[in-house]
Parts: sequence; structure tokens; C-alpha cells
Amino acid sequence: MTPGLAQETVDVDVAVVGAGAMGATVALHLARGGMRTALVDRGEICREASGVNAGTLTLHMTRAALIPYAMKGRELWLTTERWLGMDVVARSAPGLSLAFTPAERDMLEKRAEARTAMGAPIRILTPAEACRIEPGLNASLLAAAFCELDGHVTAYLTGRAYRQALRAAGVAIIERMAVEQIDRLGQGYRVRGARQVVRARRVVLAGGVWLETMLAWLGLRVPVKCLINQLVVTERMRPVMRSVVGIASGLLSLKQFENGTVLIGGGWQGLGDPVRGGVQAVPENLIGNIQLARHAIPALGETRVVRIWLGLESETADAMPMIGALPGLDEAYVIGCVHSGYTSAPYMGRLLADRILGREPEMPLFDPTRLVQAAPNAVEEMT
Ligand SMILES: Cc1cc2nc3c(=O)[nH]c(=O)nc-3n(C[C@H](O)[C@H](O)[C@H](O)COP(=O)(O)OP(=O)(O)OC[C@H]3O[C@@H](n4cnc5c(N)ncnc54)[C@H](O)[C@@H]3O)c2cc1C
Repeated sequence: MTPGLAQETVDVDVAVVGAGAMGATVALHLARGGMRTALVDRGEICREASGVNAGTLTLHMTRAALIPYAMKGRELWLTTERWLGMDVVARSAPGLSLAFTPAERDMLEKRAEARTAMGAPIRILTPAEACRIEPGLNASLLAAAFCELDGHVTAYLTGRAYRQALRAAGVAIIERMAVEQIDRLGQGYRVRGARQVVRARRVVLAGGVWLETMLAWLGLRVPVKCLINQLVVTERMRPVMRSVVGIASGLLSLKQFENGTVLIGGGWQGLGDPVRGGVQAVPENLIGNIQLARHAIPALGETRVVRIWLGLESETADAMPMIGALPGLDEAYVIGCVHSGYTSAPYMGRLLADRILGREPEMPLFDPTRLVQAAPNAVEEMT
């Protein structure tokens, strides 16, 4: 706390900590459901993973068990004007996942089968069929998986869209204030930052890769892995592709926007530290990613890279989401660590809000209890 400055106290029904797409969606639906809601972020709304991601709405790359959630999330992104009041330039586009080797073809077929069983309309195409859909493909491919329900969103518009919807719903938005601690307070919680204290009956933790720290405030030990994804964008070029292109291994995601730029991603890793802050690109990984992109769509050899950036993505020990009530705590919840989490966020957030509002969520949540480890002092007591 800054010396000499009194902390203002805000009293609400629920405090949501972390204003990425997950936290912002939960806050929006809680407020619309009648709860006095505060949304706190140490930065601004959707400026971390939720504002810097590749914006691919993908069923190919979503874990099979999460397909039904991703399909609902994709629909919500394509209709943001209806529920967020603003278009985020979301576009439906066919998705192609490519195989250039027999091993990749096997992987492609297995992945397609698992996803089809969960409701994704994915089918395997011959090279000729794939090239008819996407003439710019490298014709040396062996097979492609096709899904007509892919697409993309302009991720940097996410924050603007949520901000106006949150304001209209009456959410108390507290930005540029890092929460430093959360204490139990009688029948509720006290969320403390440098400028303000939020007193709330309920608390929702939605801190992305920072969830491990946040959960520790409430005495829970849950390891959260941090992926440091690099992204590349090219200069504007003539239209060279109209679908979202990936590769069976998952190491490529490629799309061309209406302005002609091409976004290249696929989870190639950089360096960074979520706790101390700061990220650093790994040039050889950027080059590997770009080479793979040029292999898939040879015309990309005509263009140049204009910008690269990095973002932090969270993952649990079993790579499945944690969404639900926290064990041993009254009215404390968590949401995050969702694979392809941007695609599913508008739906996942609504499910958790339903649970908090006492409604039956349409699809099951992902109980965080399975991930909680014994606290270090508890382990010491046992040995
Ligand atoms: C580079 C990259 C590319 C990706 N591409 C895709 C893709 O194409 N398709 C897809 O579906 N998914 C993609 N993802 C994954 C997706 O972006 C994430 O799963 C999703 O955005 C996570 O949302 P979140 O709200 O959980 O986390 P975040 O958006 O990270 O939000 C967490 C928030 O918590 C706040 N916070 C942290 N500590 C504190 C504190 N002490 N006090 C207050 N606030 C705090 C942060 O400031 C942040 O705003 C990508 C991720 C990255 C990084």
C-alpha cells in the first residue's frame, strides 16, 4: 500500500480476480444474474493470454474431451454482437490439419477419430481434395483432416468488447491493481490490493498462469505449468489461403486475415518467467515455426515477418481444465488452464457463473479437487 493513501473498500456479492476472457465472462454473467460484482486485474481487461493469443477457433487442436465446450464457445464468438454488443471480427472458416509423413497421417487419423466421436464434424481428405479446398497447399501432403467448423477472432479486440458489456452490466471494474492477498473474513473474503480492498461473500480466481500464486493465498497448492508461446505476423500479402491450416503434430496454426497479414503460431516456445515477469524470444524456434508455415503454404516465401510477440498459457498437471468450487472453502471458485482456452472461454465462463448463481450448468465442470496437493507443511507433519 502506498504510504499515506487510505485504501478504499468496496462491498460486493462476488469478487472475480483476473480479467482475462475467463474471469470477464464469469463476471459478466454473474452481474447479469443479479449479483453485485467486482472484477479486479493487475493490468487491463484481456491484455494477457486473452488479448495476445492467435485467435484460432479450433476443433482440430482442442482436446477431444473438450470438443462439446469448444463448439459452444465458437458459436458464442461468432455471435458476440448479440451477447457482448460488439463484433470482434470473428470469422467462420474451414480448418485443415495436414500430414506430410506416414507417422503424421496415423496421428491425424487417430486425432480425427477421437474428435469425431465427441461431435466434431471432421473427415479425412485425399491430397487432391485438400488442394481443391485450399489451392495454396504444398501438394506433397499425404492427407488432411477437414473441419468446416473452425474460424478465427481478432484477439486484441476482446478487451474492448468485454469492457463495454461489463460496464453496461454494472460490474465494478478495478484495473491496474494487483491483488496481493485474499483473507477469509467471517462469511466471505477480503481481496486486498494496493489501492482498494474488495469485501465479498464469494471469490472467483481467474488468474491464468498466475493461478498457482492465487490458490496459495487460500492455502491450496496446485502446480500450474506455464507455456510461453511465440507468435509471428507477416506483412500484408495477396490472398494465399482462406482456411485455418494446422499440422497433425499441432506445431502449426496458420491463417490469413482480411487485411492480408498472415498469423503464424503453433505453440513454439520462448523463454520467460510468470512470477518475475519478462519474456524472451527463441530465434531458432521462430525460424522453425516459419519454415513449417512455408512448407505448408509455399507462397508464404513471398512475404516478410513484421512482428513477433509472446504470451503465457497455463496448463494443469493432467492438461485438463480446473473449473469449479475450491475444496474446503465456502463460496470460493476457480476457472482456468483450459486447452484452446480462448475458443471455449465464453462458454466455460457462463457454466461457472451458472453454478455460482445456483443453476445447474448445462455441461459438467472440472472439479479442481483432483489437482490439489498437500501443502508443504502438511507433508512435513506426515513424515
Ligand atoms: C500466444 C498464445 C496463443 C494462443 N492461441 C490460442 C488460440 O489460437 N486458440 C485458443 O483457443 N486458445 C489460444 N491460446 C490460449 C488462450 O489464450 C488462453 O487459454 C485463454 O486466453 C486464457 O484465459 P484466462 O482468462 O484463463 O487467462 P488470462 O487471459 O491470462 O487472464 C488472467 C488475468 O489474470 C490477471 N492477474 C494475474 N495476476 C493478478 C493479480 N495478482 N491481481 C489481479 N489480476 C491478476 C492477469 O493480468 C490477466 O489479465 C493461446 C495462448 C497464448 C499465450
